Amino acid sequence: MELMRSRAAADDEDTRIQHDEARVMEARRIRELWAEMQRFWLRSKAAIIMREARARENRCFRGVSASDKAILALREPNLDKPAAAAGQDCPVCFEDVKEGDMLRVMPCSHCFHMSCIYKWLRASGMCPCCRFKLPSEDEQHIYMMQLIG
Ligand SMILES: [Zn+2]
Ligand SMILES: [Zn+2]
Repeated sequence: MELMRSRAAADDEDTRIQHDEARVMEARRIRELWAEMQRFWLRSKAAIIMREARARENRCFRGVSASDKAILALREPNLDKPAAAAGQDCPVCFEDVKEGDMLRVMPCSHCFHMSCIYKWLRASGMCPCCRFKLPSEDEQHIYMMQLIG
């Protein structure tokens, strides 16, 4: 009787151990799955953060360049009123505007060396003086589409 009880206890002990092992295996699988999910989540989160940072960088530091059409559409200063530009300095390079310099006027009526403002607008579509914005390539495209109907 004593022996049987102890054998039954041993069997119980065995099944309990097997049970524990199964539980440990299950827990480990869940932990691994969880870790894998977390790695995946971190990777996709990192990708999103990188993408947002790049977009922000483009907006803030480099800006969106003006469209070629908008840049080429800038006119020369009115030759009837040369005083508009003479004696001023170019807001991009800070050098005096001299007679005979190739100049361009923005729609906001700020005046620059042609090469200076062309370079500027390819980096950022905004007037360096007043932030008047020329259309970007995308905006130009949308505008043209609207014109066509
Ligand atoms: Zn200049
Ligand atoms: Zn301006």
